[in-house]
Amino acid sequence: SDHDPRSTATRGWALHQAAAELLPGGVNSATRYVGHPYAFGGGDGAYVVDLDGNRYLDYHAAFGAILLGHNSPIVDDPVRAAVGTVDLFGLGVTELEVELAKRVTEAIPSAEMMIATMSGSEATAQAVRLARAATGRSLLVKFQGGFHGWHDAVARNVISRPELAYGRDPLSAGILDHVLDATLVAEFNDLDSVRALFEQYPERIAAVIMEPIPHNVGALVPAQEFVEGLRELTHDEGAVLIFDEVITGFRHSLGGYQEVVGVMPDLTTFGKGMANGYPIGGLAGPRSLMERFDGQKGDVLLAGTFNGYTLGATAAIATIDHLRAHPEFYTRTHALGARIRDGLTSIVTELGIEATVAGFGGVFSLYFAAGPIRGYRDLMRNDDQAYAAFHRRMTDKGFLMIPMSLKRNHVSGSHTDEDVDRTLEAARDVLAGMKAD
Ligand code: PMP
Repeated sequence: SDHDPRSTATRGWALHQAAAELLPGGVNSATRYVGHPYAFGGGDGAYVVDLDGNRYLDYHAAFGAILLGHNSPIVDDPVRAAVGTVDLFGLGVTELEVELAKRVTEAIPSAEMMIATMSGSEATAQAVRLARAATGRSLLVKFQGGFHGWHDAVARNVISRPELAYGRDPLSAGILDHVLDATLVAEFNDLDSVRALFEQYPERIAAVIMEPIPHNVGALVPAQEFVEGLRELTHDEGAVLIFDEVITGFRHSLGGYQEVVGVMPDLTTFGKGMANGYPIGGLAGPRSLMERFDGQKGDVLLAGTFNGYTLGATAAIATIDHLRAHPEFYTRTHALGARIRDGLTSIVTELGIEATVAGFGGVFSLYFAAGPIRGYRDLMRNDDQAYAAFHRRMTDKGFLMIPMSLKRNHVSGSHTDEDVDRTLEAARDVLAGMKAD
């Protein structure tokens, strides 16, 4: 496209000026403003269009919440049909909620029962509370760089470089010290770092929560022995193992990453792509744990006016039904992801750029650091400015990548081989240009 991306004579710029007066930082979620006043007015399949009519091939995909493509009729048609039927009653259960739970428990190997929430954060908050109730213990172990939502229990990150992630550790002010102190941080792909915490705090750790692939720092694919070792360790120590599959769930495989790695967590959380852009989250696990949410027999509060609401449940059912009926979604997105990763790897190798391509399935990340990248410590070598330049130049050419370094890009069910060809061509130009500068 030949538009001037830095122009201030645009509708996008004007909207951001208006937003800055009314919304803190001009956005409703802190990571939506990263250096450039994006303002989109629509989308179609793999593409989004900004308010000024510029079209972008979308790899941001709403942080992965778009799985099949934008405004997909696969999901939107049933949602449209549901409007004006079952709205909200606040009493009893709807057929949709039971249908959704059927699909989730059939798809997810470790799931016997589920609860529906409105977001991923609510699902992880419930998972942590349930684990504490079930064990009678207070401490939570998370991994460096793992993100599990905006709430207090998971707000510790121990970031070594302030410009990374959300730029702070803890992620927010306003959290009680003793709550922060109850969260311990281990190193991903380093079982000894977890073992050391269990030794330091015997019988005090309620749960270990992990993104099975920490996509919030790109794509650290776990070593098989690491995941297996964690399963064994948490089991032996009487702690709950939580897989936060908010990103990996339904995206990498219908049964989540647990199906890929063949290791079963106790609890699994979902959100994002599960309903292709409609808000919903979920927590699933064995009956023995989940029954604590039972309002008659249990002791953990399950509440939420909108939990399991019609449009989110309808969208999730439609998404899961589509994935079940079309397993080629996985072969296609995995093949496209692999083509992008292989293509980028050849380009940076040929150009002699110090970079490492990572990812899994349809997800890819480009780290500007020499490999191997196994854990968070390796990521500290990333050249964030190089990534920012790459992102900026790709976006100017109409390829919308995630703006933050150390995050990831997503192929949806609507991306094509031709889209990938054009992406690699553009990436070659951009990286050659960066090398020349
Ligand atoms: N867990 C993971 C792994 C996530 O990536 C996110 C969102 N980035 C969340 C939980 C929180 O989900 P939500 O934004 O829907 O509250």
